[in-house]
Amino acid sequence: MSEHTLAIVAPCYNEQEMLPTSIPVLLETLDRLIAAHKISPASQLYFVDDGSRDNTWQQLSEACEAHPGRIVALRLSRNKGHQNALLAGLENTSEDMVVSIDADLQDDPVNIDKMVDAYLAGSEVVYGVRAARDTDTKFKRFTAEGYYHVMRKLGVDLVFNHADFRLMSRRALNALLEYPESQLFLRGMVREVGFDSAIVEYDRQSRIAGESKYPLRKMLSLAWHGISSFSTAPLRAITLLGITASALSLLTLLWVLATRIFTDNAIPGWTSILLPLLFIGSVQLLSLGVIGEYLAKLYTEVKKRPRYHISERVSGTNSNDNRV
Ligand code: UDP
Ligand code: MG
Repeated sequence: MSEHTLAIVAPCYNEQEMLPTSIPVLLETLDRLIAAHKISPASQLYFVDDGSRDNTWQQLSEACEAHPGRIVALRLSRNKGHQNALLAGLENTSEDMVVSIDADLQDDPVNIDKMVDAYLAGSEVVYGVRAARDTDTKFKRFTAEGYYHVMRKLGVDLVFNHADFRLMSRRALNALLEYPESQLFLRGMVREVGFDSAIVEYDRQSRIAGESKYPLRKMLSLAWHGISSFSTAPLRAITLLGITASALSLLTLLWVLATRIFTDNAIPGWTSILLPLLFIGSVQLLSLGVIGEYLAKLYTEVKKRPRYHISERVSGTNSNDNRV
């Protein structure tokens, strides 16, 4: 019998269509690993209800009652977003290794077996990496893969095609939990933490029920958090832009002076006034915008607000149940 305890953490936002499938599948995953003597029977599932408006919480608390001691359900006081919900789950575990996975099981839990194998072989962080993106729309695939390339160029160390399906050892997780920032981009932060890591490749499935809770707006916001939390390259780009624009305007100045002094056709056309005016104006606005974005980030971080509040916790064993 293995001594190693495993926690599987899944954030859930309006997942009532998925949970009747996800809960049994994840319990089976634990059973399979326990039977194979890879993990301890004390291993548990953690579900975090991220302020759902549907029956998610009811389903989770019923599942806790039905499987005492096997499932912990946490309820956040309101919707705080996937990254915060996941962190809430991670922070409340005490197991030796922790796997994070989406509640829609697009990342097949079969791969958790391989992650546990890699952990038992000595890796402290095991990244789930999507081998193919066949199930994504062309648009999502193009933008997602392009994003990883841009991040690399900006000097941000990301694992290509890895989202938030990963295993972490207690030591790596505790290190991650030392990061105090309130705007989370977990896949970048885990990379920052370091420790020996391994990769498990898998094919991502399409969602079998419910719809994506990550509309384009949330995706763009996460993408920008990723860049602005890990790279100051956009600020440096503004400086470069400023230098280039200054050099160009100096050349233009010389040309204007030369035209004035050495030729007769010195009547300036409105285009040559209007174009630089518009161009420089827009570059200035854009630059102010980028600086503003970083300032806004500082503003949010400086307040050090809590990242979430837990309103309820159920674990099916009465002694642990309480309203927080
Ligand atoms: N999720 C969450 N809070 C949110 C949005 C999403 O906890 O505000 C959860 C959601 O329930 C799922 C995971 O995050 O378990 C990933 O969301 P989704 O599957 O909708 O994203 P996609 O796979 O489409 O990128
Ligand atoms: Mg999904």
